[in-house]
Amino acid sequence: MKTDYLNLYSNLNEFEQIILQSTKDWVDKYVRPKIEKSFISGVPLSLKNELAELGAFGSIFPQKYGGLDFNFIAFGLMMKELEKGDSSIRVAASIQTSLVMNAIFSYGSEYQKEKYLPELANGNIVGSFAMSEPSHGSDISNLKTKFKIVDDKIILNGSKLWIGNANTSDISIVWAKNENNNIQAIVIETKNITNFQSTTLENKSSFRASHTGELFFDNSIISVNQILPKSNSIKDAYKCLNIGRYAVAWGALGIAEECYETALKFSLERTQFGEPIAGKQLIQKKLADMITEITKAQLLCLKIGELMDSNIISFEQISMAKRNNVKIAQKIAKEARQILGGMGITHDYSIMRHMINLETLITYQGTNEMHILITGRDITGISAF
Ligand SMILES: Cc1cc2nc3c(=O)[nH]c(=O)nc-3n(C[C@H](O)[C@H](O)[C@H](O)COP(=O)(O)OP(=O)(O)OC[C@H]3O[C@@H](n4cnc5c(N)ncnc54)[C@H](O)[C@@H]3O)c2cc1C
Repeated sequence: MKTDYLNLYSNLNEFEQIILQSTKDWVDKYVRPKIEKSFISGVPLSLKNELAELGAFGSIFPQKYGGLDFNFIAFGLMMKELEKGDSSIRVAASIQTSLVMNAIFSYGSEYQKEKYLPELANGNIVGSFAMSEPSHGSDISNLKTKFKIVDDKIILNGSKLWIGNANTSDISIVWAKNENNNIQAIVIETKNITNFQSTTLENKSSFRASHTGELFFDNSIISVNQILPKSNSIKDAYKCLNIGRYAVAWGALGIAEECYETALKFSLERTQFGEPIAGKQLIQKKLADMITEITKAQLLCLKIGELMDSNIISFEQISMAKRNNVKIAQKIAKEARQILGGMGITHDYSIMRHMINLETLITYQGTNEMHILITGRDITGISAF
């Protein structure tokens, strides 16, 4: 099956091809056999140790901190294959790497890096990244969670909503305003904090195989040493989102490829009116459009990865890739589901599950509308937020 229409993956270097194949094999072994049941029941697969063994936690960071020195293309390929399995698996790797480890690596002291990064990399501890709030999602720079410093302690007040791993994380990177209204990141150790609660949302239709929840701080007391000292503004949180959005761009491409491959195979096997439906022009139109959009998204991902590896990427360029790839994946998943007819709505196939997960991908890490406005501001110089 030629999902790699321009032979882009076969031109990857040997290391990148190994990562692509080994992640694919890992997904076949650990995710595919159990994921539909996990999604239906809303109970996540517990694959923390297996993900750590694969190298999915912190692969892009130096070995000194438990990482694997991956380049961004190899990291992206891994995210793509994990999300072909399910969004919950890619997001487990991505929260830990792109958001939590990235925040500590970028803004933490040497002591904090040495304390937390190797433990996160080997899966001994799980992190969460707490930025969004009940009243502030897209408008995050106005977030309300606040802290003040009294002697050697922080007193923290506020709440966070939609936080992946909220109730199951050992540490959380909480973004809050200090007394000068500057936004800083604080590492909360969830077992060493007073006046703190966390919950899991029980009524999600999307991302069902992943826990999402709330955090509440009511005069919570934390050591002042838990502030990430180099974090000083909302821009620092946005910088963490760059790698998160890059991972979503690759992950959405993975979903698009998965849905296309499923639909193509089905169309070659399903016979109606005496021949495979793949022989019908209307079906071919859908498949031809899908592979064209997938090829464009592959090129976008590889180019963005190249720019990231050269350290000359802009925030806006990553934003475009996230928006485009989620959008095309939504369209492809919808058409693929249609090619499967009635079977497309069942859990015998993955398409419906991916379609539902895409409803989260289009909203989180910046909604589709926010990304349009980011591109709009970049090309006109005028902010329309
Ligand atoms: C499953 C899931 C997991 C998540 N995980 C995390 C996590 O781990 N950590 C974290 O911090 N956050 C997380 N989020 C939160 C996510 O980032 C927010 O949901 C997202 O930023 C949107 O915020 P909101 O839901 O408050 O929507 P709102 O910001 O209220 O937006 C509602 C609608 O209004 C539109 N809108 C808003 N402003 C404008 C404007 N100026 N012009 C045009 N349209 C506009 C939006 O595009 C959207 O369509 C998660 C969300 C989900 C659903």
